[in-house]
Amino acid sequence: MIDLRSDTVTRPTPGMVEAMAAAALGDDVYAEDPTVNALEQRVAAQFGLEAGLFCVSGSLSNQLGVWSLVEPGQEVLCDAGAHIARAEMGAHAANAGVTMRTWVTDDGVAELAQIEQLLSPDAGPYLVSTGAVELENTHNFGGGTIQPLEHLRAVSRLCRDAGVGLHLDGARIWNAAVATGVDFAEYGALFDTVSVCFSKGLGAPVGSMLLGSAETIARCRVQRKRLGAGWRQAGGLAAAASYALDHHIDRLSDDHAAAGVFAEAVARYAPEAPAAPQTNIVVVPTGGRPATEVVARAAEQGVALSVVGGRRVRAVTHLDVNRGDCERAGEIVGRLLAED
Ligand SMILES: *Cc1c(COP(=O)(O)O)cnc(C)c1O
Repeated sequence: MIDLRSDTVTRPTPGMVEAMAAAALGDDVYAEDPTVNALEQRVAAQFGLEAGLFCVSGSLSNQLGVWSLVEPGQEVLCDAGAHIARAEMGAHAANAGVTMRTWVTDDGVAELAQIEQLLSPDAGPYLVSTGAVELENTHNFGGGTIQPLEHLRAVSRLCRDAGVGLHLDGARIWNAAVATGVDFAEYGALFDTVSVCFSKGLGAPVGSMLLGSAETIARCRVQRKRLGAGWRQAGGLAAAASYALDHHIDRLSDDHAAAGVFAEAVARYAPEAPAAPQTNIVVVPTGGRPATEVVARAAEQGVALSVVGGRRVRAVTHLDVNRGDCERAGEIVGRLLAED
């Protein structure tokens, strides 16, 4: 099976397993795990932010980031296809009393005016006040799209002028940085809180981090424990993340090239070709066929894809597939879409 469902499906490499086994450990609830502490300091410095909090999942670091910026009963504004809106099981409402309003885009990159229009800080006694805006870079369901730096700067200015928080879901910020050459600290400077994932393209088995000011991260450390997600000797997992930062960032350009190979192969056959991918995600329109049917048929032929909408499927490239796999998978999917 060529598994293109997600870049989360990778297994740790032998070098990573070795690093995990060798990690120095301590109790992280007491903030005594040296490997976790070193990772938190390292990533915070990388993004030019004061502090970091190692978390079990991106969904948890997004929850904590939004929770730190939005009071119960206030709203967070985001894209209708955002991970926080679609893929976190309503956590922001269920666990933090946060409501949401969304703007709609094709590819996850909004016009500034769309955000401006929704923004209502201090809405008074009748309307919901905006606590924060959330952006996703790269945008997952938008097809791995990159938020242009100028757009991020404009949204950041807008939010700061309005006194509203700004959270970045940077699960795949690594892919954006590799594709654009933008420094991580340039991204970090624009946001109040940033979440990043080690378990996507970087290939670690588990782990995410929330970054922000020392004060925010201290509050979030308490809230993480409140949610039952304080962990103990987590240094083995932090060692995997640290190994991934050392060895798996530059190679993301291989994943981007492989996504291009997949998209081109599909386009040779498919009447509705996918857009050329900017990073490691290809969203393929399925024409008249339901996405669920395309996913089932592709699986019969040895290609695993995922459903992202009624008529859209997604392929994601990663550490455990090569260009040859992607060429073959693209041919299979393209032929399948071209059948009457
Ligand atoms: C994967 C992902 C996350 C976090 O997912 P977890 O499975 O909770 O780690 C957050 N945001 C985006 C855009 C993602 O793709």
